[in-house]
Amino acid sequence: YVKMPKLEKYKDEPLDEKFRWVGAAAGGSVPKKKKLRVWCRLPNTDWELGNIHSIKGEDTVVLLSNGNVLRVSTKNLLPVNPDILDDVDDLIKLSYLNEPSVLRTVKCRYSRDMVYTKAGNVLVAINPFKEVPLYGSDLAAAYREKKDNRPHVYAIADSAYNAMMRDGANQSIIISGESGAGKTETAKITMQYLVTLGGRSGIENKVIQTNFILEAFGNAKTSRNDNSSRFGKLTEMQFNDGGKFCGARIQTFLLEKTRVVQRETGERSYHVFYQLCAGASHILKEKLNLKAADEYEYLKQSDCLRISCVDDAQRFHMLMEALNIAHISKEDQENAFTMLAAVLWLGNIEFQVIDAENHVEVVSSEGVTSAAKLMGCEVSELMLALSTRKFHAGKDSIIEKLTLSQAIDTRNALAMSVYVFLFDWLIQKINKSLEVGERQTCRSITILDIYGFESFHRNGFEQICINYANERLQQHFNRHMFKLEQEEYVQDGIDWTTVEFIDNSECLDLFEKRPLGLLSLLDEESSFPEATDLTFINKLKQHLDGNPCFKGEGRGAFRVRHYAGEVLYDTSGFLEKNRDLLHSDYVKLLAHCQLSGLFASYILDRSQDTNLIRQFTSADLLDRSVGSKFKGQLFKLMQCLESTTPHFIRCIKPNNNQLPGMFENEHVLQQLRCCGVLEIVKISKAGYPFRIAHQRFAERYGFLIFENVASEDPLSIAVAVLQKFNVLPEMYQVGYTQLFFSHSTDFCIGEHQKSHY
Ligand code: ADP
Ligand code: MG
Repeated sequence: YVKMPKLEKYKDEPLDEKFRWVGAAAGGSVPKKKKLRVWCRLPNTDWELGNIHSIKGEDTVVLLSNGNVLRVSTKNLLPVNPDILDDVDDLIKLSYLNEPSVLRTVKCRYSRDMVYTKAGNVLVAINPFKEVPLYGSDLAAAYREKKDNRPHVYAIADSAYNAMMRDGANQSIIISGESGAGKTETAKITMQYLVTLGGRSGIENKVIQTNFILEAFGNAKTSRNDNSSRFGKLTEMQFNDGGKFCGARIQTFLLEKTRVVQRETGERSYHVFYQLCAGASHILKEKLNLKAADEYEYLKQSDCLRISCVDDAQRFHMLMEALNIAHISKEDQENAFTMLAAVLWLGNIEFQVIDAENHVEVVSSEGVTSAAKLMGCEVSELMLALSTRKFHAGKDSIIEKLTLSQAIDTRNALAMSVYVFLFDWLIQKINKSLEVGERQTCRSITILDIYGFESFHRNGFEQICINYANERLQQHFNRHMFKLEQEEYVQDGIDWTTVEFIDNSECLDLFEKRPLGLLSLLDEESSFPEATDLTFINKLKQHLDGNPCFKGEGRGAFRVRHYAGEVLYDTSGFLEKNRDLLHSDYVKLLAHCQLSGLFASYILDRSQDTNLIRQFTSADLLDRSVGSKFKGQLFKLMQCLESTTPHFIRCIKPNNNQLPGMFENEHVLQQLRCCGVLEIVKISKAGYPFRIAHQRFAERYGFLIFENVASEDPLSIAVAVLQKFNVLPEMYQVGYTQLFFSHSTDFCIGEHQKSHY
């Protein structure tokens, strides 16, 4: 084993003769030198450019670029990169790695519509909130032919494809970011690129059109994004042996179903409801007894029926066209519209209180007759299902009247389940239509577009599920970017200084530990009929207070310290949402009412395979609660991702107003911190992304200096070749089994790039 000279980290930082940059790369101090340009931290924690004016002991007087003069301690100063590095396309090219410099670079690029920047192998994408001339088939071709190598989604998709073809390994492209950061658009751009690869197969347009269908049924206007996806989506893009795109499969996660019946003022329910009301033909309207959107309680309650610049009627025609292209039959389309109308009419069903105990009956109205007709059941049946509950006590069954709030909950639960059934059914239909014809041996590139970390004014059960999923994804990211990478260096014995990263395993423990993790405790408490949100929070406080990521608060609230920040959760509704009991009465109703033919049989299938009709026992509940189902789904997702080579795209939202040309420093910085951009750049800069086994290197290049390669040992050959060709020692390291090359080498061609890095 030949020990090579030690790599000096951050070699490219200019070293002043008198003043060494002490730890500047890590954001440390700055030499004391008059006139020197520096970043200066303002009292409001923003960074501003300035020049050192004078120095007195630990204090430095800085002349800021805005004309102000500030006296600060040296620890509030950071080195500035030369202007020439202002718009480098890869942050690893920055001489000084510090937050203000990274921010300045992405901001500078952003102002010139260069919304993509690399951070090592991770793509940082900033939402332009306007059309930018960065897409289209000509540009895609330029990336395919390697004529363009600027950072781009196309470049990521292309390298995933190449890695798949070269290594025969499945790949994944993981897109993350806050709501409105551009994940879904980025996923679509990725798909658009991938479908063109390997020649035409006729299925391209079908796949692209399914996006439109899914958005109609699964996206809605929220306060953050006019077209916010309310579900997570995994799209597996399949390729045949020849590398031709040949089919796709979609899997979805946790559709936000409460939106159908309730949401914040100023937000909308799912687009498709408004599209249907605005765009349905006269015949369809008559058939479904369809009214304008403002006549439905479920739609008008949030005071927002329109999205500016969007024509819902026109969108409805586009939806029908997309459904046709995706080969969803006319009959199925009509079934779907019938269910949508049924949901809307359910929302108009009213109750009247009939006794002192607040028990109710359903008011006979257009709402209940229309809903029953559309669902294909008797009006009386529906009325009964919404106002009573049947219990089994031994052999007898007891019928109990519902109170007003119970009846409203039941009605809403029914509406939500119909919508969720409809959504799942649609995904199934779409998948059938996108299936690869003859089952060829396929390779795939999986695109993950999943809701980002959420921290609102009020955070409930949905937020905790979403944030838990993000914790898992962050761990996957850390594992691949930092852990596995560095472990490999250590295992192969190369000289390496560990780059620290924020490990989130404590937070994951908080959720997953058994039996005393948040999810287990939630399930346990959900199985006690007499439990309340208050007993739940007490249980959490009792068992979780030892975890540093948990903090119990007053009034049924608790805090979790997530990797992306602290979130305050309100436990009200947690137990009920986690139980999510489908009242067996109305599931039976759903199962036997006609629900327009096919749809009913789908529900029956589903209810059989998930045992929805069975009475729940607490044991059932434990493995069927929403929380544990979600965890199970998440584990499957992680398993699927672990079997692929990941590529990461981090989407960044430049402002909260969905406006172009507006770049809010603090907000962007916060997101860059969350996704660990600085650490990625650090590790990429110091790391060795290219590697090749001694043996392979010797076979490949040994002939350049040895006549008889076979007679020498591979390591000696490798070292001799490197020396003979004067490869600088800091550009590579020799490990026990492999040679490692740094980013700055062109000696080792891209072919050896470690795919997961
Ligand atoms: P997310 O899925 O992260 O919530 P979206 O992908 O829906 O966010 O993006 C929100 C909005 O931002 C889009 O509706 C679109 O108007 C705009 N947008 C996002 N990415 C781009 C892009 N690459 N070019 C132009 N506009 C974009
Ligand atoms: Mg989205």
